[in-house]
Amino acid sequence: MESEENISDVSTAFSKALEVISTSEPTVAEHIRGELDNQRSQLKLIASENYASPAVLLAMGNWFSDKYAEGTPGHRFYAGCEFVDKVETLASNHAKELFSANYAYVQPHSGIDANLVAFWSILAHRIEAPFLASHGKRHVNDLTDSDWETLRTSFGNQRMIGMSLDAGGHLTHGFRPNISGKLFDQRSYGVNPETEILDYDEINTLAKEFRPLVIVAGYSAYPRKVNFAKIREIADSVDATFMVDMAHFAGLVAGKVFADDFDPISNAHIVTSTTHKSLRGPRGGIVLSNEEELAEFIDKGCPMVLGGPLANIMAAKAVAFAEARQPEFREYASNVVNNASALASGIEKRGGRLVTGGTENHLVLVDVRKFGLTGRQAESALEDAGVVVNRNSIPFDPNGAWYTSGIRLGTPALTTLGMGEDDMDEVADIICSTLKAAEPTKTSSGEQSKANYILASEIQASNRERAGDLLRLNPLYPDLNLI
Ligand code: PLP
Repeated sequence: MESEENISDVSTAFSKALEVISTSEPTVAEHIRGELDNQRSQLKLIASENYASPAVLLAMGNWFSDKYAEGTPGHRFYAGCEFVDKVETLASNHAKELFSANYAYVQPHSGIDANLVAFWSILAHRIEAPFLASHGKRHVNDLTDSDWETLRTSFGNQRMIGMSLDAGGHLTHGFRPNISGKLFDQRSYGVNPETEILDYDEINTLAKEFRPLVIVAGYSAYPRKVNFAKIREIADSVDATFMVDMAHFAGLVAGKVFADDFDPISNAHIVTSTTHKSLRGPRGGIVLSNEEELAEFIDKGCPMVLGGPLANIMAAKAVAFAEARQPEFREYASNVVNNASALASGIEKRGGRLVTGGTENHLVLVDVRKFGLTGRQAESALEDAGVVVNRNSIPFDPNGAWYTSGIRLGTPALTTLGMGEDDMDEVADIICSTLKAAEPTKTSSGEQSKANYILASEIQASNRERAGDLLRLNPLYPDLNLI
Protein backbone atom coordinates (compact mmCIF):
# COMPACT_ATOMS: atom_id res chain seq x y z
CA MET A 1 0.00 0.00 0.00
CA GLU A 2 1.29 3.47 -0.91
CA SER A 3 1.35 6.41 1.48
CA GLU A 4 -1.20 9.16 0.64
CA GLU A 5 1.44 11.61 -0.61
CA ASN A 6 3.12 9.35 -3.19
CA ILE A 7 0.07 7.53 -4.49
CA SER A 8 0.12 7.31 -8.30
CA ASP A 9 -2.55 8.84 -10.54
CA VAL A 10 -3.50 5.36 -11.73
CA SER A 11 -4.03 4.18 -8.15
CA THR A 12 -6.09 7.26 -7.35
CA ALA A 13 -8.19 6.94 -10.50
CA PHE A 14 -9.13 3.29 -10.00
CA SER A 15 -9.46 3.48 -6.21
CA LYS A 16 -11.82 6.45 -6.41
CA ALA A 17 -13.78 4.80 -9.22
CA LEU A 18 -14.29 1.72 -7.03
CA GLU A 19 -15.41 3.92 -4.15
CA VAL A 20 -18.03 5.51 -6.40
CA ILE A 21 -19.17 2.11 -7.71
CA SER A 22 -19.47 0.87 -4.10
CA THR A 23 -22.00 3.52 -3.29
CA SER A 24 -24.42 1.86 -5.77
CA GLU A 25 -23.41 -1.82 -5.57
CA PRO A 26 -20.47 -2.68 -3.33
CA THR A 27 -20.43 -6.30 -4.47
CA VAL A 28 -19.50 -5.26 -8.01
CA ALA A 29 -16.59 -3.21 -6.66
CA GLU A 30 -15.52 -6.28 -4.68
CA HIS A 31 -15.63 -8.49 -7.77
CA ILE A 32 -13.60 -5.95 -9.76
CA ARG A 33 -10.95 -6.08 -7.03
CA GLY A 34 -11.17 -9.90 -7.03
CA GLU A 35 -10.58 -10.02 -10.78
CA LEU A 36 -7.43 -7.91 -10.44
CA ASP A 37 -6.12 -10.22 -7.70
CA ASN A 38 -6.86 -13.22 -9.89
CA GLN A 39 -5.15 -11.76 -12.93
CA ARG A 40 -2.16 -10.89 -10.78
CA SER A 41 -1.83 -14.39 -9.41
CA GLN A 42 -1.80 -16.46 -12.62
CA LEU A 43 0.52 -16.75 -15.58
CA LYS A 44 -1.76 -15.82 -18.43
CA LEU A 45 -0.93 -17.78 -21.58
CA ILE A 46 -4.33 -17.54 -23.26
CA ALA A 47 -3.28 -16.61 -26.79
CA SER A 48 -6.32 -14.36 -27.34
CA GLU A 49 -5.92 -12.30 -24.17
CA ASN A 50 -3.79 -9.37 -23.14
CA TYR A 51 -3.66 -6.53 -20.61
CA ALA A 52 -4.94 -3.18 -21.91
CA SER A 53 -3.23 -0.08 -20.52
CA PRO A 54 -4.87 1.93 -17.69
CA ALA A 55 -5.50 4.69 -20.27
CA VAL A 56 -7.44 2.27 -22.50
CA LEU A 57 -9.39 0.91 -19.53
CA LEU A 58 -10.30 4.37 -18.25
CA ALA A 59 -11.39 5.60 -21.69
CA MET A 60 -14.13 2.93 -21.63
CA GLY A 61 -15.80 3.98 -18.42
CA ASN A 62 -17.50 7.29 -19.04
CA TRP A 63 -20.51 9.18 -20.42
CA PHE A 64 -19.70 8.38 -24.06
CA SER A 65 -21.49 5.18 -23.13
CA ASP A 66 -24.79 7.08 -22.84
CA LYS A 67 -24.90 8.39 -26.40
CA TYR A 68 -26.80 6.82 -29.29
CA ALA A 69 -25.06 7.40 -32.61
CA GLU A 70 -26.40 5.11 -35.33
CA GLY A 71 -24.84 6.00 -38.67
CA THR A 72 -21.36 7.32 -39.45
CA PRO A 73 -19.57 10.58 -38.54
CA GLY A 74 -21.52 13.47 -40.06
CA HIS A 75 -24.39 11.15 -41.08
CA ARG A 76 -26.13 10.13 -37.86
CA PHE A 77 -29.71 9.17 -37.21
CA TYR A 78 -29.45 11.03 -33.86
CA ALA A 79 -28.72 14.62 -32.93
CA GLY A 80 -26.03 15.67 -30.48
CA CYS A 81 -23.20 13.53 -31.89
CA GLU A 82 -20.52 16.22 -32.16
CA PHE A 83 -18.03 14.50 -29.89
CA VAL A 84 -18.92 10.97 -30.93
CA ASP A 85 -18.18 12.06 -34.51
CA LYS A 86 -14.84 13.42 -33.38
CA VAL A 87 -13.83 10.36 -31.42
CA GLU A 88 -14.95 7.90 -34.11
CA THR A 89 -13.08 9.87 -36.78
CA LEU A 90 -9.98 9.95 -34.60
CA ALA A 91 -10.11 6.18 -34.00
CA SER A 92 -10.65 5.54 -37.70
CA ASN A 93 -7.78 7.85 -38.73
CA HIS A 94 -5.43 6.24 -36.21
CA ALA A 95 -6.40 2.79 -37.51
CA LYS A 96 -5.85 3.82 -41.14
CA GLU A 97 -2.41 5.14 -40.36
CA LEU A 98 -1.45 2.25 -38.12
CA PHE A 99 -2.37 -0.37 -40.71
CA SER A 100 -1.75 1.65 -43.90
CA ALA A 101 -5.36 1.15 -44.97
CA ASN A 102 -7.47 3.57 -46.99
CA TYR A 103 -10.55 2.83 -44.98
CA ALA A 104 -11.25 1.81 -41.36
CA TYR A 105 -14.62 1.11 -39.73
CA VAL A 106 -14.25 1.11 -35.95
CA GLN A 107 -17.82 0.39 -34.85
CA PRO A 108 -17.94 -3.43 -34.58
CA HIS A 109 -18.45 -4.54 -30.99
CA SER A 110 -16.33 -7.68 -31.36
CA GLY A 111 -14.49 -9.87 -33.86
CA ILE A 112 -17.60 -11.85 -34.70
CA ASP A 113 -19.46 -8.63 -35.43
CA ALA A 114 -16.62 -7.39 -37.63
CA ASN A 115 -16.84 -10.62 -39.65
CA LEU A 116 -20.59 -10.21 -40.05
CA VAL A 117 -20.09 -6.67 -41.32
CA ALA A 118 -17.52 -7.97 -43.80
CA PHE A 119 -19.73 -10.81 -45.04
CA TRP A 120 -22.70 -8.51 -45.56
CA SER A 121 -20.63 -5.89 -47.30
CA ILE A 122 -19.23 -8.50 -49.68
CA LEU A 123 -22.75 -9.80 -50.38
CA ALA A 124 -24.05 -6.25 -50.82
CA HIS A 125 -21.25 -5.36 -53.22
CA ARG A 126 -21.09 -8.58 -55.20
CA ILE A 127 -24.72 -9.74 -55.18
CA GLU A 128 -27.21 -7.08 -54.09
CA ALA A 129 -25.81 -4.02 -55.89
CA PRO A 130 -25.54 -5.71 -59.34
CA PHE A 131 -29.01 -7.24 -58.86
CA LEU A 132 -30.53 -3.83 -58.08
CA ALA A 133 -28.71 -2.29 -61.04
CA SER A 134 -29.91 -4.99 -63.41
CA HIS A 135 -33.48 -4.35 -62.25
CA GLY A 136 -33.12 -0.57 -62.55
CA LYS A 137 -33.71 -0.08 -58.80
CA ARG A 138 -31.82 1.85 -56.16
CA HIS A 139 -33.14 0.23 -52.98
CA VAL A 140 -34.31 -3.24 -51.92
CA ASN A 141 -37.67 -1.74 -50.92
CA ASP A 142 -38.25 -0.88 -54.58
CA LEU A 143 -38.10 -4.53 -55.70
CA THR A 144 -41.25 -6.54 -56.36
CA ASP A 145 -41.93 -9.39 -53.90
CA SER A 146 -40.90 -11.90 -56.49
CA ASP A 147 -37.62 -10.12 -57.34
CA TRP A 148 -36.87 -9.79 -53.64
CA GLU A 149 -37.42 -13.54 -53.25
CA THR A 150 -34.97 -14.18 -56.09
CA LEU A 151 -32.37 -11.94 -54.45
CA ARG A 152 -32.87 -13.57 -51.03
CA THR A 153 -32.38 -17.00 -52.55
CA SER A 154 -29.29 -15.82 -54.30
CA PHE A 155 -27.74 -14.64 -51.00
CA GLY A 156 -28.13 -18.17 -49.68
CA ASN A 157 -26.52 -19.71 -52.77
CA GLN A 158 -23.12 -18.12 -52.33
CA ARG A 159 -19.96 -20.07 -51.59
CA MET A 160 -17.06 -19.57 -49.24
CA ILE A 161 -13.86 -21.39 -48.42
CA GLY A 162 -12.12 -21.05 -45.05
CA MET A 163 -9.51 -22.80 -42.95
CA SER A 164 -10.78 -25.95 -41.24
CA LEU A 165 -11.40 -25.80 -37.52
CA ASP A 166 -8.93 -28.51 -36.58
CA ALA A 167 -6.23 -26.78 -38.63
CA GLY A 168 -6.81 -23.65 -36.53
CA GLY A 169 -9.61 -21.81 -38.39
CA HIS A 170 -12.47 -20.01 -36.67
CA LEU A 171 -16.13 -20.94 -36.35
CA THR A 172 -17.17 -17.67 -38.01
CA HIS A 173 -15.41 -18.65 -41.25
CA GLY A 174 -18.42 -20.50 -42.62
CA PHE A 175 -18.96 -23.34 -40.13
CA ARG A 176 -22.46 -24.65 -39.62
CA PRO A 177 -22.91 -23.87 -35.90
CA ASN A 178 -22.25 -20.19 -36.73
CA ILE A 179 -24.51 -17.89 -38.77
CA SER A 180 -21.76 -17.72 -41.44
CA GLY A 181 -22.23 -21.45 -42.12
CA LYS A 182 -25.98 -21.01 -42.43
CA LEU A 183 -25.46 -18.12 -44.86
CA PHE A 184 -22.76 -19.59 -47.08
CA ASP A 185 -22.17 -22.97 -48.66
CA GLN A 186 -18.71 -23.58 -47.22
CA ARG A 187 -15.81 -25.93 -47.91
CA SER A 188 -12.66 -25.84 -45.87
CA TYR A 189 -8.97 -26.19 -46.58
CA GLY A 190 -6.53 -27.66 -44.11
CA VAL A 191 -2.91 -28.43 -43.47
CA ASN A 192 -0.55 -31.03 -44.84
CA PRO A 193 -0.87 -34.14 -42.63
CA GLU A 194 2.92 -34.57 -42.47
CA THR A 195 4.10 -31.01 -41.91
CA GLU A 196 0.88 -29.60 -40.39
CA ILE A 197 1.59 -26.48 -42.49
CA LEU A 198 -1.00 -24.83 -44.77
CA ASP A 199 -1.18 -26.48 -48.14
CA TYR A 200 -1.52 -23.67 -50.73
CA ASP A 201 -1.87 -26.17 -53.57
CA GLU A 202 -4.90 -27.60 -51.83
CA ILE A 203 -6.40 -24.11 -51.48
CA ASN A 204 -5.76 -23.52 -55.18
CA THR A 205 -7.35 -26.81 -56.24
CA LEU A 206 -10.35 -26.29 -53.96
CA ALA A 207 -10.84 -22.73 -55.22
CA LYS A 208 -10.70 -23.87 -58.88
CA GLU A 209 -13.21 -26.68 -58.27
CA PHE A 210 -15.60 -24.94 -55.88
CA ARG A 211 -15.45 -21.37 -57.33
CA PRO A 212 -16.23 -19.53 -54.08
CA LEU A 213 -17.44 -15.95 -53.89
CA VAL A 214 -15.29 -15.46 -50.77
CA ILE A 215 -11.97 -16.92 -49.63
CA VAL A 216 -11.32 -16.40 -45.93
CA ALA A 217 -7.89 -16.69 -44.35
CA GLY A 218 -6.96 -16.15 -40.73
CA TYR A 219 -6.92 -18.37 -37.68
CA SER A 220 -7.13 -18.68 -33.96
CA ALA A 221 -4.81 -21.64 -33.49
CA TYR A 222 -2.24 -21.87 -36.29
CA PRO A 223 1.32 -21.18 -35.16
CA ARG A 224 2.75 -20.11 -38.51
CA LYS A 225 2.80 -17.10 -40.81
CA VAL A 226 0.35 -17.18 -43.71
CA ASN A 227 1.40 -16.10 -47.19
CA PHE A 228 -1.50 -13.80 -48.00
CA ALA A 229 -0.01 -12.78 -51.36
CA LYS A 230 -0.27 -16.41 -52.54
CA ILE A 231 -3.89 -16.67 -51.44
CA ARG A 232 -4.72 -13.36 -53.13
CA GLU A 233 -3.36 -14.76 -56.38
CA ILE A 234 -5.63 -17.77 -55.99
CA ALA A 235 -8.60 -15.52 -55.16
CA ASP A 236 -7.97 -13.38 -58.25
CA SER A 237 -7.77 -16.46 -60.46
CA VAL A 238 -11.36 -17.42 -59.52
CA ASP A 239 -12.75 -13.89 -59.07
CA ALA A 240 -13.26 -14.40 -55.34
CA THR A 241 -13.20 -11.66 -52.72
CA PHE A 242 -10.29 -12.30 -50.38
CA MET A 243 -11.00 -11.62 -46.71
CA VAL A 244 -8.49 -11.96 -43.88
CA ASP A 245 -9.57 -12.22 -40.27
CA MET A 246 -6.48 -11.03 -38.39
CA ALA A 247 -8.22 -11.08 -34.98
CA HIS A 248 -5.34 -12.96 -33.38
CA PHE A 249 -2.32 -11.39 -34.99
CA ALA A 250 -3.39 -7.76 -35.55
CA GLY A 251 -0.73 -6.65 -33.07
CA LEU A 252 1.93 -8.33 -35.20
CA VAL A 253 0.62 -6.54 -38.29
CA ALA A 254 0.51 -3.20 -36.44
CA GLY A 255 4.01 -3.86 -35.11
CA LYS A 256 5.26 -4.64 -38.67
CA VAL A 257 6.35 -8.17 -37.82
CA PHE A 258 4.12 -9.41 -40.63
CA ALA A 259 5.01 -7.45 -43.77
CA ASP A 260 5.06 -7.83 -47.57
CA ASP A 261 3.52 -11.18 -48.60
CA PHE A 262 2.49 -11.78 -44.99
CA ASP A 263 0.74 -8.41 -44.54
CA PRO A 264 -3.01 -8.92 -44.80
CA ILE A 265 -3.92 -5.28 -45.47
CA SER A 266 -2.01 -4.87 -48.74
CA ASN A 267 -2.99 -8.34 -50.00
CA ALA A 268 -6.67 -8.83 -49.06
CA HIS A 269 -9.75 -6.99 -50.30
CA ILE A 270 -11.12 -6.74 -46.80
CA VAL A 271 -9.61 -7.36 -43.36
CA THR A 272 -11.36 -7.82 -40.04
CA SER A 273 -9.94 -7.90 -36.56
CA THR A 274 -10.54 -7.80 -32.88
CA THR A 275 -8.88 -4.97 -30.98
CA HIS A 276 -8.31 -6.74 -27.66
CA LYS A 277 -5.94 -9.62 -28.42
CA SER A 278 -2.35 -9.00 -29.57
CA LEU A 279 -3.40 -5.41 -30.44
CA ARG A 280 -3.91 -4.72 -26.70
CA GLY A 281 -6.95 -2.46 -26.96
CA PRO A 282 -10.48 -2.60 -25.58
CA ARG A 283 -12.77 -5.53 -26.41
CA GLY A 284 -14.03 -4.75 -29.89
CA GLY A 285 -13.65 -5.17 -33.64
CA ILE A 286 -12.61 -3.27 -36.75
CA VAL A 287 -12.94 -3.67 -40.51
CA LEU A 288 -10.24 -2.35 -42.84
CA SER A 289 -10.10 -2.15 -46.61
CA ASN A 290 -8.30 -0.54 -49.48
CA GLU A 291 -11.22 -1.13 -51.85
CA GLU A 292 -13.40 1.91 -52.35
CA GLU A 293 -16.38 -0.13 -53.64
CA LEU A 294 -16.50 -2.12 -50.42
CA ALA A 295 -16.14 0.88 -48.09
CA GLU A 296 -19.61 2.25 -48.84
CA PHE A 297 -21.18 -1.07 -47.78
CA ILE A 298 -18.94 -1.57 -44.73
CA ASP A 299 -20.16 1.83 -43.52
CA LYS A 300 -23.68 0.40 -43.40
CA GLY A 301 -22.63 -2.18 -40.77
CA CYS A 302 -24.86 -0.43 -38.24
CA PRO A 303 -27.80 -1.00 -38.31
CA MET A 304 -27.36 -3.76 -40.97
CA VAL A 305 -25.87 -6.26 -38.51
CA LEU A 306 -24.61 -4.16 -35.60
CA GLY A 307 -26.39 -2.50 -32.72
CA GLY A 308 -25.72 1.18 -32.06
CA PRO A 309 -22.01 2.04 -31.91
CA LEU A 310 -20.37 2.05 -28.48
CA ALA A 311 -18.79 5.50 -28.38
CA ASN A 312 -16.92 4.76 -25.16
CA ILE A 313 -15.28 1.73 -26.77
CA MET A 314 -14.43 3.70 -29.91
CA ALA A 315 -12.74 6.23 -27.61
CA ALA A 316 -10.73 3.43 -26.03
CA LYS A 317 -9.86 2.08 -29.52
CA ALA A 318 -8.50 5.53 -30.43
CA VAL A 319 -6.30 5.43 -27.30
CA ALA A 320 -5.09 1.91 -28.06
CA PHE A 321 -4.30 2.74 -31.72
CA ALA A 322 -2.40 5.83 -30.57
CA GLU A 323 -0.38 3.57 -28.26
CA ALA A 324 0.22 1.03 -31.03
CA ARG A 325 1.59 3.78 -33.28
CA GLN A 326 4.47 4.38 -30.85
CA PRO A 327 7.87 2.84 -31.65
CA GLU A 328 7.70 0.81 -28.41
CA PHE A 329 4.79 -1.15 -29.85
CA ARG A 330 7.00 -2.46 -32.67
CA GLU A 331 9.45 -3.65 -30.06
CA TYR A 332 6.57 -5.23 -28.15
CA ALA A 333 5.35 -7.07 -31.26
CA SER A 334 8.77 -8.46 -32.05
CA ASN A 335 9.24 -9.50 -28.41
CA VAL A 336 5.91 -11.35 -28.53
CA VAL A 337 7.23 -13.45 -31.42
CA ASN A 338 10.68 -13.98 -29.90
CA ASN A 339 9.05 -15.04 -26.63
CA ALA A 340 6.82 -17.51 -28.46
CA SER A 341 9.91 -19.02 -30.13
CA ALA A 342 11.70 -19.26 -26.78
CA LEU A 343 8.66 -20.86 -25.18
CA ALA A 344 8.40 -23.34 -28.07
CA SER A 345 12.08 -24.34 -27.80
CA GLY A 346 11.78 -24.64 -24.02
CA ILE A 347 8.86 -27.04 -24.38
CA GLU A 348 10.43 -29.03 -27.18
CA LYS A 349 13.71 -29.56 -25.33
CA ARG A 350 11.71 -30.88 -22.37
CA GLY A 351 10.06 -33.53 -24.52
CA GLY A 352 6.92 -31.74 -25.78
CA ARG A 353 5.71 -32.11 -29.37
CA LEU A 354 4.91 -28.86 -31.13
CA VAL A 355 2.31 -28.82 -33.88
CA THR A 356 4.16 -27.81 -37.10
CA GLY A 357 7.43 -28.23 -35.18
CA GLY A 358 7.59 -24.62 -34.01
CA THR A 359 6.11 -21.14 -34.25
CA GLU A 360 6.44 -17.98 -36.34
CA ASN A 361 3.85 -15.89 -34.54
CA HIS A 362 2.50 -15.29 -31.03
CA LEU A 363 1.25 -18.79 -30.34
CA VAL A 364 2.47 -22.29 -29.70
CA LEU A 365 0.30 -25.37 -30.11
CA VAL A 366 1.46 -28.33 -28.00
CA ASP A 367 0.36 -31.90 -28.64
CA VAL A 368 -0.04 -33.11 -25.04
CA ARG A 369 -0.52 -36.78 -25.95
CA LYS A 370 3.24 -37.06 -25.50
CA PHE A 371 2.60 -36.39 -21.80
CA GLY A 372 -0.15 -39.04 -21.79
CA LEU A 373 -2.89 -36.42 -21.37
CA THR A 374 -5.83 -34.93 -23.20
CA GLY A 375 -6.01 -31.18 -23.73
CA ARG A 376 -8.72 -31.00 -21.11
CA GLN A 377 -6.54 -32.66 -18.47
CA ALA A 378 -3.53 -30.53 -19.38
CA GLU A 379 -5.59 -27.32 -19.19
CA SER A 380 -6.91 -28.18 -15.69
CA ALA A 381 -3.58 -29.44 -14.34
CA LEU A 382 -1.88 -26.23 -15.48
CA GLU A 383 -4.56 -24.12 -13.82
CA ASP A 384 -3.83 -26.02 -10.59
CA ALA A 385 -0.21 -24.97 -11.03
CA GLY A 386 -1.03 -21.27 -11.59
CA VAL A 387 -0.83 -21.27 -15.41
CA VAL A 388 -3.90 -20.34 -17.46
CA VAL A 389 -4.04 -21.81 -20.98
CA ASN A 390 -6.79 -23.23 -23.13
CA ARG A 391 -7.19 -26.67 -24.60
CA ASN A 392 -7.31 -26.79 -28.37
CA SER A 393 -7.79 -29.29 -31.16
CA ILE A 394 -4.73 -30.19 -33.15
CA PRO A 395 -4.88 -31.14 -36.86
CA PHE A 396 -6.76 -34.44 -37.35
CA ASP A 397 -7.38 -34.55 -33.58
CA PRO A 398 -8.40 -38.04 -32.42
CA ASN A 399 -9.85 -36.65 -29.17
CA GLY A 400 -12.42 -34.35 -30.78
CA ALA A 401 -13.20 -30.72 -30.02
CA TRP A 402 -14.25 -31.20 -26.37
CA TYR A 403 -11.36 -33.19 -24.84
CA THR A 404 -8.84 -32.33 -27.56
CA SER A 405 -5.18 -33.38 -27.78
CA GLY A 406 -3.61 -29.97 -27.57
CA ILE A 407 -3.09 -26.84 -25.56
CA ARG A 408 -2.69 -23.41 -27.12
CA LEU A 409 -0.19 -21.06 -25.52
CA GLY A 410 0.21 -17.39 -26.41
CA THR A 411 2.79 -14.82 -25.35
CA PRO A 412 1.04 -11.41 -25.85
CA ALA A 413 0.00 -11.04 -22.19
CA LEU A 414 3.26 -12.13 -20.53
CA THR A 415 5.20 -9.94 -22.98
CA THR A 416 3.07 -6.96 -21.93
CA LEU A 417 4.21 -7.67 -18.36
CA GLY A 418 7.79 -7.30 -19.58
CA MET A 419 8.85 -10.95 -19.54
CA GLY A 420 11.61 -11.99 -21.90
CA GLU A 421 13.10 -15.12 -23.43
CA ASP A 422 14.76 -16.36 -20.22
CA ASP A 423 11.45 -16.07 -18.42
CA MET A 424 9.89 -18.16 -21.20
CA ASP A 425 12.33 -20.96 -20.44
CA GLU A 426 11.17 -20.91 -16.82
CA VAL A 427 7.52 -20.87 -17.99
CA ALA A 428 8.28 -23.87 -20.25
CA ASP A 429 9.76 -25.70 -17.27
CA ILE A 430 6.73 -24.97 -15.08
CA ILE A 431 4.44 -26.21 -17.87
CA CYS A 432 6.39 -29.36 -18.70
CA SER A 433 7.05 -30.38 -15.09
CA THR A 434 3.32 -30.03 -14.38
CA LEU A 435 2.30 -32.03 -17.44
CA LYS A 436 4.84 -34.77 -16.72
CA ALA A 437 3.55 -35.07 -13.15
CA ALA A 438 -0.16 -35.18 -14.04
CA GLU A 439 -1.55 -38.76 -14.26
CA PRO A 440 -4.89 -39.61 -15.83
CA THR A 441 -7.15 -41.61 -13.53
CA LYS A 442 -9.18 -44.69 -14.57
CA THR A 443 -12.89 -44.58 -15.25
CA SER A 444 -15.27 -47.03 -13.49
CA SER A 445 -14.97 -49.32 -16.53
CA GLY A 446 -11.17 -49.37 -16.18
CA GLU A 447 -10.42 -47.12 -19.14
CA GLN A 448 -8.12 -44.14 -18.98
CA SER A 449 -10.17 -41.02 -18.17
CA LYS A 450 -10.08 -38.15 -20.68
CA ALA A 451 -11.11 -35.60 -18.06
CA ASN A 452 -9.79 -36.61 -14.64
CA TYR A 453 -6.22 -36.81 -13.41
CA ILE A 454 -4.18 -36.58 -10.26
CA LEU A 455 -1.46 -34.03 -9.69
CA ALA A 456 0.62 -34.22 -6.53
CA SER A 457 -0.07 -31.26 -4.26
CA GLU A 458 3.68 -30.58 -3.83
CA ILE A 459 4.06 -30.02 -7.58
CA GLN A 460 1.00 -27.77 -7.62
CA ALA A 461 2.36 -25.75 -4.72
CA SER A 462 5.94 -25.47 -5.95
CA ASN A 463 4.91 -24.52 -9.48
CA ARG A 464 2.42 -21.97 -8.18
CA GLU A 465 5.26 -20.51 -6.18
CA ARG A 466 7.50 -20.34 -9.26
CA ALA A 467 4.69 -18.72 -11.29
CA GLY A 468 4.22 -16.26 -8.42
CA ASP A 469 7.94 -15.41 -8.45
CA LEU A 470 7.78 -14.53 -12.15
CA LEU A 471 4.71 -12.39 -11.57
CA ARG A 472 6.30 -10.58 -8.62
CA LEU A 473 9.27 -9.69 -10.82
CA ASN A 474 6.98 -8.63 -13.70
CA PRO A 475 3.88 -7.25 -12.00
CA LEU A 476 0.60 -6.42 -13.70
CA TYR A 477 -0.05 -2.64 -13.55
CA PRO A 478 2.98 -1.84 -11.37
CA ASP A 479 1.64 1.69 -10.78
CA LEU A 480 -1.66 0.46 -9.51
CA ASN A 481 -2.20 -0.12 -5.80
CA LEU A 482 -5.85 -0.13 -4.88
CA ILE A 483 -6.46 1.67 -1.62
N1 PLP B 1 -11.99 -14.32 -35.36
C1 PLP B 1 -10.99 -15.03 -34.83
C2 PLP B 1 -9.93 -15.56 -35.74
C3 PLP B 1 -10.94 -15.27 -33.45
O1 PLP B 1 -9.93 -15.98 -32.94
C4 PLP B 1 -11.98 -14.77 -32.64
C5 PLP B 1 -12.01 -14.97 -31.19
O2 PLP B 1 -11.49 -15.80 -30.57
C6 PLP B 1 -13.01 -14.04 -33.24
C7 PLP B 1 -12.99 -13.84 -34.59
C8 PLP B 1 -14.16 -13.53 -32.43
O3 PLP B 1 -13.84 -12.44 -31.67
P1 PLP B 1 -14.85 -11.90 -30.56
O4 PLP B 1 -14.78 -12.84 -29.43
O5 PLP B 1 -14.32 -10.53 -30.23
O6 PLP B 1 -16.20 -11.82 -31.19
